[in-house]
Amino acid sequence: MDRTFVMVKPDGVQRGLVGHIVSRLEAKGLKLVGARFETLLEPRVNDQYKEHLEKPFYPSLKKYIMGGPVFLMVWEGRNAVSIVRKLIGATNPQEAAPGTIRGDFGIDIGRNVIHASDSNESASREIAIHFKTADISSYTRIDAAVIYEY
Ligand code: UDP
Ligand code: MG
Repeated sequence: MDRTFVMVKPDGVQRGLVGHIVSRLEAKGLKLVGARFETLLEPRVNDQYKEHLEKPFYPSLKKYIMGGPVFLMVWEGRNAVSIVRKLIGATNPQEAAPGTIRGDFGIDIGRNVIHASDSNESASREIAIHFKTADISSYTRIDAAVIYEY
């Protein structure tokens, strides 16, 4: 099983989309194994987005992410990383397909509602930034036997 890091960004929290987003991922069959509600401070935002530190949009991205509480989550499932990236849609909500979270709920690229890790490597790195191992739960979803073929 794979794990991925997902974060409802401040605009998603303000717009009351946390419940909807959790429901979407739960309905897909993914398993929620960690969650926390928090307003992020600069060091962790820099760490989270380290590949973007020198990009022209970084100052506005940082201000946006630090602008209010976010909902941090760890989700588990077979191919969880690529599944969640497909469910959230393209980075620019105007290009994201209808039916995806960004496609359904966003307009501007700088207010795109949600983050999800883009590879297994980033997932491990991002999970470790935000969660202690002890804060991630291990359990079996009772419907796993009918969600997975094997
Ligand atoms: N972003 C932005 N302007 C840009 C590109 C990205 O404001 O031109 C923001 C946007 O919030 C995006 C985040 O920076 O989600 C990280 O960018 P990335 O290219 O990693 O997109 P993602 O992995 O979130 O789809
Ligand atoms: Mg990214």
